[in-house]
Amino acid sequence: MELKADQFTVRGKLIENAPLAPYTWFRVGGPADLFFIPADEDDLSDFLKQLPEDVPVTTLGVGSNIIIRDGGVEGVVIRLAGGYWGQIEQMNATTLFARSGSLDLSVARFAAKSGIAGLSFLSGIPGSIGGAMRTNAGCYGKELKDVLNQVEVIDRKGEKHVFQGELVDYGYPKVGFSYRHTDFPTDLIVTGALLSGDDVGDPETLKAEIEAHQARRAETQPIKDKTSGSTFANPDPPGTPDQRSAWKLIDAAGCRGLRVGGAQVSEKHCNFLINTGDARASDLEALGELVRARVLETSGVELRWEVRRIGRY
Ligand SMILES: Cc1cc2nc3c(=O)[nH]c(=O)nc-3n(C[C@H](O)[C@H](O)[C@H](O)COP(=O)(O)OP(=O)(O)OC[C@H]3O[C@@H](n4cnc5c(N)ncnc54)[C@H](O)[C@@H]3O)c2cc1C
Repeated sequence: MELKADQFTVRGKLIENAPLAPYTWFRVGGPADLFFIPADEDDLSDFLKQLPEDVPVTTLGVGSNIIIRDGGVEGVVIRLAGGYWGQIEQMNATTLFARSGSLDLSVARFAAKSGIAGLSFLSGIPGSIGGAMRTNAGCYGKELKDVLNQVEVIDRKGEKHVFQGELVDYGYPKVGFSYRHTDFPTDLIVTGALLSGDDVGDPETLKAEIEAHQARRAETQPIKDKTSGSTFANPDPPGTPDQRSAWKLIDAAGCRGLRVGGAQVSEKHCNFLINTGDARASDLEALGELVRARVLETSGVELRWEVRRIGRY
């Protein structure tokens, strides 16, 4: 079915055939049939109520964990970032509320300023809270599930729900959180989350913690490149004895610096793929598959894509 923007009454931005590459860190990929940036939660809910049930919906945060394929994305792509979607509010001494488009770094900084300890790890993740919830993002020994108190969502029919821990009340299966993964239903859009730290802390100490995380990142990761972070999940979750790292397996397979078209395995951190300037999504995906094949051949390990790949080839 052809989707036309003037079929819908909205207050936010609704654009037909909108290029998505500028909204992802990789800067690759084709357009969305229809692209929507809702003005606020009610706007999102009203839009979904008007949208025919058979139209696929994809949610985007800040695009730091995604490859949009060259053929673009069918249906509607909804982007929750910036403005209203970036609001953060302190609820009590150790808890804050963040709308889904808040950057993880902004949440970490807000927590530090408010004296909420235990959320600084978020400063290492360049995505949004919605994306972090979907991917159970984490670093420095902590992941989103450890600080998640309550989640607000809107379902495909435009209905709002709030849940704590489980979604059983709404007829969905229990959400399983595992290493860099959740079974969070894809038809639910996260609109906000209550996050709790573990204690009150000194703002200056927390600020220093964040600065240390940032410095470490800049030293070890190609954060200024067009990338999407770790391409593959480590085969063994953190804490496993003799844990194997994806980057070590990739390095051992001789893939550091490997290229396909404009895509390259980063020389700095070989679990990162980068767009050197003119890569297409197909180059990145082909390079990823080549790396997987070489790692399988040299170590017998089948790497799992951590980066989401969506859309038409
Ligand atoms: C340099 C770099 C370093 C990184 N380091 C880390 C790291 O240390 N740890 C880590 O975990 N990740 C890391 N990442 C990956 C990435 O930042 C995280 O996965 C992040 O949580 C993704 O958030 P996003 O807003 O960019 O999501 P997107 O990339 O926009 O989307 C990711 C997934 O989340 C879904 N999604 C997004 N928003 C919502 C929403 N509101 N409701 C429902 N679903 C939604 C999307 O549909 C998609 O499936 C890194 C990335 C980069 C570029």
